[in-house]
This record gives sequence, C-alpha cells and structure tokens, in this order.
Amino acid sequence: MPRRAPSICGLCGKLHPKGEKCARAVAMAKARHARADAKRPNAAARGYDREWGQLRADFLRVYPGCKRCGGPATLVDHIVPIRVAPHRRLDPANLQSLCASCHSGAKQSADRRKYGADR
Ligand SMILES: [Zn+2]
Ligand SMILES: [Zn+2]
Repeated sequence: MPRRAPSICGLCGKLHPKGEKCARAVAMAKARHARADAKRPNAAARGYDREWGQLRADFLRVYPGCKRCGGPATLVDHIVPIRVAPHRRLDPANLQSLCASCHSGAKQSADRRKYGADR
C-alpha cells in the first residue's frame, strides 16, 4: 500500500494528520459563505419564502401543464402581480402554471400581436 507522506499545509504551515481538516481552511470557508449570504437578498423579503415554495410545488403538481401553450409548466405565475395585490400572494385563485417561455413578458406580448388576444 503506497502511503502518502503528510505534507505541510499551505494555509497554516502545520502538518495535518490524515482526515483532519485544517482549522484555517474551515474558518476561511465559513467566512466566505457568510459573505455570500450577506450579499444575497433575503428570500422572504423578496416575497419568496418557504410558504410560497411549498404552495408553488403543490400547485405545479396539481396543474403540471402551461396555462397558455399546454407544455410542461416549470413555474407558477401570479395572475394579479404581487406588487399590485400583495395579499393575494398565496391565493391559489391568483396562480397559474406557465412554462418558462410563456412566462417571459416579451413572448406574451409578441404572441398577442401574432395571434390576437389570448383565447
Ligand atoms: Zn492547515
Ligand atoms: Zn407555455
């Protein structure tokens, strides 16, 4: 069995026994994650908290098809936007399943010009 000789750690300059994590590396990774978390806007503040995540998943299970094209839906859209009706954010009557391309506003208006009003 070839055995690798322990090498001097480039971070802390010490020898680490096999399997031991460098405390310096762990601390650096933790600091890196903390910085990334601070930069990321809070999911709940954006209106997408765990409650919404659960409702969205349930909704897609019940309505797996895109409301507009009938293709596989990948996201749940608010019919009345949250910024207009924040209280209807978790109202299933205000939701519709859409595929990514139908969800893009550009495509929606292009379709409206091409095919006339929706349905
Ligand atoms: Zn080390
Ligand atoms: Zn679609």
